[in-house]
Amino acid sequence: MTNLTHLTIEQALKGLEKKDFTAVELTQAHIDAMEKFRSLNAYIVETPEIALKQAAESDKRRAGGKAGLIDGIPLGIKDLFCTQGVQTTAASKILEGFKPEYESTVTSNLFRDGAVMLGKTNLDEFAMGSSNTTSAFGNVINPWKRKNDNTDLVPGGSSGGSSAAVAARICMGATGTDTGGSIRQPAAFCGIAGIKPTYGRCSRWGVVAFASSLDQAGPFARTVKDNALLLRSMAGYDPKDSTSADRPVPDYAAAMTGNIKGLKIGVPKEYRVEGMPAEIEKMWQQGIDWLKSAGAEIVDVSLPHTKYALPVYYIIAPAEASSNLARYDGVRYGKRVTGENLKDMYQKTRAQGFGEEVRRRILVGTYVLSAGYYDAYYIKAQRVRRLIYNDFMSAFEKCDVLLTPTAPSAAFAIGENEDDPVKMYLNDVFTVTGNLAGLPGLALPAGLDSQGLPLGLQLLGRPWGEETLFNVAGVIEKAANFTALPASVQKAA
Ligand code: GLN
Repeated sequence: MTNLTHLTIEQALKGLEKKDFTAVELTQAHIDAMEKFRSLNAYIVETPEIALKQAAESDKRRAGGKAGLIDGIPLGIKDLFCTQGVQTTAASKILEGFKPEYESTVTSNLFRDGAVMLGKTNLDEFAMGSSNTTSAFGNVINPWKRKNDNTDLVPGGSSGGSSAAVAARICMGATGTDTGGSIRQPAAFCGIAGIKPTYGRCSRWGVVAFASSLDQAGPFARTVKDNALLLRSMAGYDPKDSTSADRPVPDYAAAMTGNIKGLKIGVPKEYRVEGMPAEIEKMWQQGIDWLKSAGAEIVDVSLPHTKYALPVYYIIAPAEASSNLARYDGVRYGKRVTGENLKDMYQKTRAQGFGEEVRRRILVGTYVLSAGYYDAYYIKAQRVRRLIYNDFMSAFEKCDVLLTPTAPSAAFAIGENEDDPVKMYLNDVFTVTGNLAGLPGLALPAGLDSQGLPLGLQLLGRPWGEETLFNVAGVIEKAANFTALPASVQKAA
């Protein structure tokens, strides 16, 4: 039998249909692989019993001619999605042991279509970070290494467990969430593809909240088409989330016609940031050339307020986080540290429950929302957010999609960028704009740098422009022909 963990979702679905293997066999192959790669720390909780039970049910459904869209496909679920009866921690001590009574809408949708859950993947605490080093359950290790160098690298963050797991072939796809880049940046660091859809495309119900006006769920997978298959199942209107959009969910895979003749691709000059490695600049140019030779037209566009995006994000995201995280008080959820009185209990619970980065965000957020600074910071940031949105809308009068690099560097070493939080925040320079404007953004691997690490390209689209993103990404994917594997994964195969 072929190595089942190396199949794409598309191939696995065909194999299941042709009875080349069963969902139980496919799942078991992944469970075995998970054991081999446990040192990556990609999963906080593994759920092999649930997975095998779901897989057996999937086989029955298929035998009865009732298979769903992704029936029998084993996935990793970011531990920010509430899963009924299965510990959900947001990688925080404050939620250790918390077993939700309900299932998030996104995971319910995936299960409705037949997905199998292998476990809950690791992340930065409350999805705050770009390196997956702030998790209370230990950092995740990127399966990729630099050539002739054994240094452990970060998988990116916050969805680093999901991206590392997909890259290491210990799940076929995974869920992520993206508040400022947490799907796209880890996808780039791990050499896989991921999409943050338009704000409102996936329900946020049952997803632990970080910054509610920015958070959006989306998939990770090794191919663009696999992302299209997963997003179709995840997306959709949900009356339980008033910000979810009541629009039909298209067949995203069907939009991948490969025909982009005459499509206008915008290249924003403000994304040429200082200090960006020449190799990333080169990769970006390569992407432009690929699209040009496929018949697209390249247009230069300007997004003049880009330089304010990071400061605006790091006001709005902490402000919303400080408000969302007020609910963790030792009374209603997870951890409780008893104290002399009620206030003492709140303080002790929060002091012991939250890690350093989460505390930093709560402090910044509370500060910018305080009576004296609300207008100067929070309101000002909201106004600039609007200008950033307007920039995009003017750009989309001239083009259909924007092409940019995904991140300003390849994966860095664990411990690097830790001395200065602002340095870490710079990782999100190309991705936060999409969240601030609510736009869809797709990241895909485009090649390797001279150290042998993957580099990604990002496509940003108009609101509800996911189909165009998938189509253009398919063209880049074909041209890039990214087939490289992390050495450890190659060896295990
Ligand atoms: N790295 C960004 C942050 O730390 C984005 C995180 C995310 O998208 N969840 O806030």
